[in-house]
Amino acid sequence: MTIGILGGGQLARMIALAGYPLGLRFRVFDPAPDAPAGQLAQHVVAPYDDADELRKFAQDLDAITYEFENVPADTVRLLGSLGTVYPPAEALAVAQDRLAEKRLFERLGIPTPRFQPVHSLDDLRRAVAEIGLPAVLKTRRLGYDGKGQCVLRTASDVEATFTALSGAPAANAGLILEQFIAFSRELSLIAVRGADRDVADYPLVENVHRDGILRRSLAPAPSLTTAIQRQADEYANAIARELSYVGVLALELFDVDGRLLANEIAPRVHNSGHWSIEGAATSQFENHLRAILGWPLGDTSPRGASLMLNLIGEAQPTPELLALGGHVHLYAKRPAPGRKLGHVTFVAPNDAQRRAIIEQIDREAAAG
Ligand code: AMP
Repeated sequence: MTIGILGGGQLARMIALAGYPLGLRFRVFDPAPDAPAGQLAQHVVAPYDDADELRKFAQDLDAITYEFENVPADTVRLLGSLGTVYPPAEALAVAQDRLAEKRLFERLGIPTPRFQPVHSLDDLRRAVAEIGLPAVLKTRRLGYDGKGQCVLRTASDVEATFTALSGAPAANAGLILEQFIAFSRELSLIAVRGADRDVADYPLVENVHRDGILRRSLAPAPSLTTAIQRQADEYANAIARELSYVGVLALELFDVDGRLLANEIAPRVHNSGHWSIEGAATSQFENHLRAILGWPLGDTSPRGASLMLNLIGEAQPTPELLALGGHVHLYAKRPAPGRKLGHVTFVAPNDAQRRAIIEQIDREAAAG
């Protein structure tokens, strides 16, 4: 069987790596000739709006999926007329628009920060009066890794922030103002829903971001209670049901003293699920493939206490990470500031030993 993936980045690369043991073949569609998955899959190099190339790409595929949210809706629609695309187009449409996403949470009774759509400076002033400060102004579309958003702290920030954000091309679709949440920590839930509607959830993951980019994930999250896991499972499962979802779905959450608020969803395999390659019985990548092919889902149980670190920006000291017992994954990308070049996962037998690894890594980083 051959699986088509829109986007040939590291997520496509890791999906392919998970699929080869199952006898699957892969074809990726990505305009970049040096896309990370291109090294190990058939690679169609063309712009996402090239209908002829998309038609050729879709020939003889057994399933089609995508690895990033910002695929143009028309591209997915065209592919949907040529084959089955999972996750479904509606999930993608919701995930592409922060307002639609928040309204979905509301409709399903899932707590989320208070929000207001913003189209003008007057709208923003009204929204600030209603929501209060601090608040976060975001573009509704095309935000990722903390881009396209700004925190408003005082009334004097309002006009400048509006001018700064509304000038971005992504602002054409409008902005959204959200209540600023002083969270205790950020969590994410990776859920997978099969074509037969069976759902499996990975344990909640604790995520640490810096400069808007994920740096570190702890899976399972420390001090995880059954109650909070159950709550997150219910939210993710309700979203998946509502969207007739098939595949891996990530739900990002704020934990405020044990109460969960939904931030956003990603209709794809997710950076906070990379630990599952070594740290769970079945990885998110394999489970995504099983789901979109209609195969039984694999066990999502953790194998220990995992720590995943993203390798960002520069060539990384791989031998040192290997010496510490890390499983290193490099994505074959050219180094650039802020670029995710790879990740490393440590699977410790328990939380205390995971803490010891973190302390050792932090000590080594501090020593340069
Ligand atoms: P997002 O692109 O919405 O995931 O936002 C990127 C990061 O900004 C999140 O992971 C949070 O650390 C922070 N953030 C986003 N929205 C809020 C909010 N409403 N309150 C506080 N922090 C936020």
